[in-house]
Amino acid sequence: MRIGIPEALLFQRYEPIIRTFFNNLEVDVVYSGPSNQDILERGIKNCVDEACLPMKLFQGHVSKLEEECDKVVVPRLMKCEFGDSICPKFSGLPELVGKGNSQGRFIFSDPLYLNDRAKLEKTVVKQGKQLEVPKENLIRAFRAAEAAMNIRKAVYRAEADFAGAAGMGESEETKKPGERKGSRVALLGHPYNISDSFANRNLINKLKRLGIEVVTGEDPLEKDFSMQLTGLMKAPYWMFYRENFGKAGALLESGSIDGILYVSSFCCGTDSVIIEMIKSRIDDFPMLVLKIDEHTAEAGIDTRLEAFSELLERRRYHEAHLS
Ligand code: SF4
Repeated sequence: MRIGIPEALLFQRYEPIIRTFFNNLEVDVVYSGPSNQDILERGIKNCVDEACLPMKLFQGHVSKLEEECDKVVVPRLMKCEFGDSICPKFSGLPELVGKGNSQGRFIFSDPLYLNDRAKLEKTVVKQGKQLEVPKENLIRAFRAAEAAMNIRKAVYRAEADFAGAAGMGESEETKKPGERKGSRVALLGHPYNISDSFANRNLINKLKRLGIEVVTGEDPLEKDFSMQLTGLMKAPYWMFYRENFGKAGALLESGSIDGILYVSSFCCGTDSVIIEMIKSRIDDFPMLVLKIDEHTAEAGIDTRLEAFSELLERRRYHEAHLS
């Protein structure tokens, strides 16, 4: 049996865990590869018009894999690792991308609660039986994936400790805007909009070409943003809200960035709230919101980035000297 895994939505975020799980299962696995024009066109053709760009791309990855595989992994994510909720499209993903009887070919589509280890293991083992793999192999693969997650956290912690002990990062991080060679921006947004260079039209390379350094904040699997969330009327409901609002607050407080660049999908409901909340917290600190969809053109992005870069430079060198 051949299993297809779409490299879209939260794939990059959980990639080491997903790969470890399937490597340990010893089944025939096909990864869909990075997004491209062909995948986007498949997504536009098969997905509902109102869907956001990341959902259309996911649909495109699934359509490609359906031609090559017996089963396609289409997860139904209900809760993330900290117990927060996620966009409702994730909990209805199999219905959103399933056409006709194709839902019967989806696997791991039972509700997944990443914050409940026992429930997660039970669901994964139950769903995995469709792969004709012995139960003990499924349990072994699940535990190996869990270990990969813990190793990732340990490596991240060790890197942070090493940087701290060596004084690295600190000196750079604490430099004030006028003391740095170029501008530095925080790149925020949903993880799939940041990590998919086809979706964001190679944004990180464009920023580098303009001499802008990019920081994306701490590892979200590790970082506790509770400090930045104090003062809100209630705890943020969505994971992406908690992460992006928290990251923006942490980076702003550190004084280590000159601006914020937020990549947002056109017609994303959660972003409409997150962006306004960040704006209300940062006053007149420079922030550019880049909306992306399937019609986004390189030239439009280039022009806005150039204008933003000039604004940051002007602020760094002149506005700080105003009496
Ligand atoms: S959070 Fe926004 S961008 Fe992400 S899937 Fe939902 S609607 Fe799309």
